Amino acid sequence: MDEDFIFNEHHKDEFPPAHTAEHLLNQTMMRLFGCSRSYNAHVERKKSKMSFHLDQKPSRQQEKEIERRMNELIDEDLPVTFEIATRDTLPPEVDQDRLPSDTSDAIRLVRIGDYDVCPCIGKHVRSTSQIGRFEMLGTNWDEIEKSFRVRFKIV
Ligand SMILES: [Zn+2]
Repeated sequence: MDEDFIFNEHHKDEFPPAHTAEHLLNQTMMRLFGCSRSYNAHVERKKSKMSFHLDQKPSRQQEKEIERRMNELIDEDLPVTFEIATRDTLPPEVDQDRLPSDTSDAIRLVRIGDYDVCPCIGKHVRSTSQIGRFEMLGTNWDEIEKSFRVRFKIV
């Protein structure tokens, strides 16, 4: 599932500002909660949602912090750059386990400032200010699955 998400879930209508926000939200969640990148994501022009496995339900204050950090990163106008790596030259931050076993030798990495780097073949904005503004629409917590879903839109 994760593999599909990273490499294949890139359809023609992909909206680069929302997709770039997806990268930022993944890294922001990892830093705030020590979790992994989202295990399920639907990122679209109008509304997006991303789900993460967390140890416990975030507080209202933590939820606000997610939104605050996202807009701070947008304001910082971090450059979005690309590079080609191979399995042997992957930066240590990139989780090799998430690469499909049939990945070709050349792996396209997308870097956002010094904040995030991950393999991706999608379309991105050139710098984070082009995302616009990140607006959190709401969240859902599933106590059984320990799953936290963030619903957001880019305005
Ligand atoms: Zn991407």
